[in-house]
Amino acid sequence: QAHLDRIAAVDGDVHAFLHVSDHAVDVAADIDRRRAAGEELGELAGVPLAIKDVLVTTDMPSTSGSKILEGYMSPYDATVVARARAAGLVPLGKTNMDEFAMGSSTEHSAYGPTHNPWDLDRIPGGSGGGSAAAVAAFEAPLALGSDTGGSIRQPAHVTGTVGMKPTYGGVSRYGAIALASSLDQVGPVSRTVLDSALLHDVIGGHDPHDATSLTDAWPSFAAAAREGATGDVLKGLKVGVIRELDDTGFQKGVSESFRASLAAMEAAGAEIVEVSAPHFEYGVAAYYLILPAEASSNLAKFDSVRFGMRVNVPGGTVEDVMAATRDAGFGDEVKRRVILGTYALSAGYYDAYYGSAQKVRTLIQRDFDEAFAQVDVIATPSAPTTAFRLGEKLNDPIQMYLNDVTTIPVNLAGVPGISIPSGLAAEDGLPVGIQFVAPAREDARLYRVGAALE
Ligand code: GLN
Repeated sequence: QAHLDRIAAVDGDVHAFLHVSDHAVDVAADIDRRRAAGEELGELAGVPLAIKDVLVTTDMPSTSGSKILEGYMSPYDATVVARARAAGLVPLGKTNMDEFAMGSSTEHSAYGPTHNPWDLDRIPGGSGGGSAAAVAAFEAPLALGSDTGGSIRQPAHVTGTVGMKPTYGGVSRYGAIALASSLDQVGPVSRTVLDSALLHDVIGGHDPHDATSLTDAWPSFAAAAREGATGDVLKGLKVGVIRELDDTGFQKGVSESFRASLAAMEAAGAEIVEVSAPHFEYGVAAYYLILPAEASSNLAKFDSVRFGMRVNVPGGTVEDVMAATRDAGFGDEVKRRVILGTYALSAGYYDAYYGSAQKVRTLIQRDFDEAFAQVDVIATPSAPTTAFRLGEKLNDPIQMYLNDVTTIPVNLAGVPGISIPSGLAAEDGLPVGIQFVAPAREDARLYRVGAALE
């Protein structure tokens, strides 16, 4: 009830939520009854949870921020939602996002932007700006996000929260409305590293409904975070910094905060090691071929017949109806990427664009492999700038895309990455995050290191 009251008080300004549950209090009361009856419930039982609208839910609409899915009710819950409910978490509502998770500011939502609680004139990051803002504004203690190129970590960076993108395959994508299937991962957003770890323990692990789900047995991430908070894990830790990633393009306060974090780690016994990742700088270019290609294919299912909205065209053919529906239902950024993707995949261009991008992806994976032969984790600033003003980059897609220079290579390589708050930028007093990246399957290492620095 306290969180619902908080939402009622501030969400008119923040607009983190697209839908607030009308039965969260009943669900919470039921958890209380079960606990009173002596049932053993997990650590997160009774904790409210905000859910990014990319994740389908049976009891609330799921729109993925798009008009084309307005009011859509799913016949099933995403696996991560089902697992959260089973663990006794209480879904509070669905959070705002850029349409189909395409964006870095939540301004591409068909339902209006979310505002950054630190400064309502500024963006909360994207695409998961709603989840990050909900956590930062104390509307929810925990949230679920999805990260295809940075959509959990970049919003965490600009809102002073923690956001984790797990190893590809570590968390089920079943019921996460697909953007780019080879890049998408679901993950937690929270105010502390331990909170994210606890939620990751609940949602992670093998799911037969997701063909790319890993069958690994995972260690307890909460145990890793607790160990990090108490232990001496920074002593002797080898932290890689990428030589090719100099200060160019980074806001002064972001670079300063990054260097201060490195100095703090060094003082605690970590060794800072320069590593080379020569192909890192081609990540954004490769991503904006691979992502639109996969997205154009994934979004073909919004054909006016199977899901959501339909615009009738009197006397028109099925194709006329499909075209009119997609024209009215999709926003400009979605159309831009569908056009880019179908072009990149078309006969005659496939090898030159999509094929080349896949080769760059392999080179980036090799850069990470070589770096991780020398270091335990890699550190980068989570994003180049602090929260920018609403509208500032809306009409300049390239500037918008460059927000993800340090997060995108992590998705291309399939490795885990976490953004944790590293302080405030001196020039504007806005939050800054530091990103840590680990080898595939070493998610626990990120919780250990993140908690140690917190
Ligand atoms: N900002 C990136 C994009 O627009 C990342 C999105 C995401 O991670 N879903 O594609």
